Amino acid sequence: MIGNSAAYNAAMRILIANDDGYLAPGLHALVRACAGLGEIDVVAPEQNASGTSNALTLNRPLSVFEASGEAVKGFRVVNGTPSDCVHIALTGLLPHRPDLVLSGINNGANMGDDTLYSGTVAAAMEGYLFGIPAIAFSQVHKGWGELDAAAAAARALIDRVLAGGMPAGPWLLNVNIPNVPDAMTRPRRITRLGRRHASQPVIRQTNPRGEPIYWIGPAGDARDAGEGTDFHATAQGCVSVTPLQVDLSDHASMGRWSALA
Ligand code: MN
Repeated sequence: MIGNSAAYNAAMRILIANDDGYLAPGLHALVRACAGLGEIDVVAPEQNASGTSNALTLNRPLSVFEASGEAVKGFRVVNGTPSDCVHIALTGLLPHRPDLVLSGINNGANMGDDTLYSGTVAAAMEGYLFGIPAIAFSQVHKGWGELDAAAAAARALIDRVLAGGMPAGPWLLNVNIPNVPDAMTRPRRITRLGRRHASQPVIRQTNPRGEPIYWIGPAGDARDAGEGTDFHATAQGCVSVTPLQVDLSDHASMGRWSALA
């Protein structure tokens, strides 16, 4: 447990994870911003695990150590993925079940198709899959510009959501925050996920032994950035809040496939 205050709700328990690793400034900013909300536990990956989606480590055991140092005091660090962190926190590491799982703040946007690859979203989703309300936070641009403002905006959203008591869960919100100094007072828009174009081509190089190696190319630009999407809201300078669900079933096409089955 990192902090506790009776000012808000001493009974509330919050688990915070991320995918950029336990040393990431975005995690530290989110933890600071949550001061006074309740009992906070941080369980985060040892290494940057961006882009690992919902991966669980099944081929080796996981180790947990408690971090030392001012910014990370009390953090528990896992040599695994973001989903590993939340999974083991909820299935044996923590002595109690959290009321809320937070993830981030991520170094860069998680909008549209990004959400399928994102370890930030996955850490929150792991909480959601265990029936716990969860929120993933990302800054729209990489580099931690205006990070404290983003953390204040994250806290403002949490306070707004909890103002009338915890909404019945589970639920999962994906939040993208513009890198602006007044992020906290920017309008919040409830959005749907946009779509990106297919990612850029793989980059082929040759290693020192003359063998080909490949770098995954950067994500594509927004293809569906229309009104109502996360891309559109953040382009307008707003905080984008997308409620997510996990059901990937294509309900609309089930009739068509039934005729072929
Ligand atoms: Mn990341």
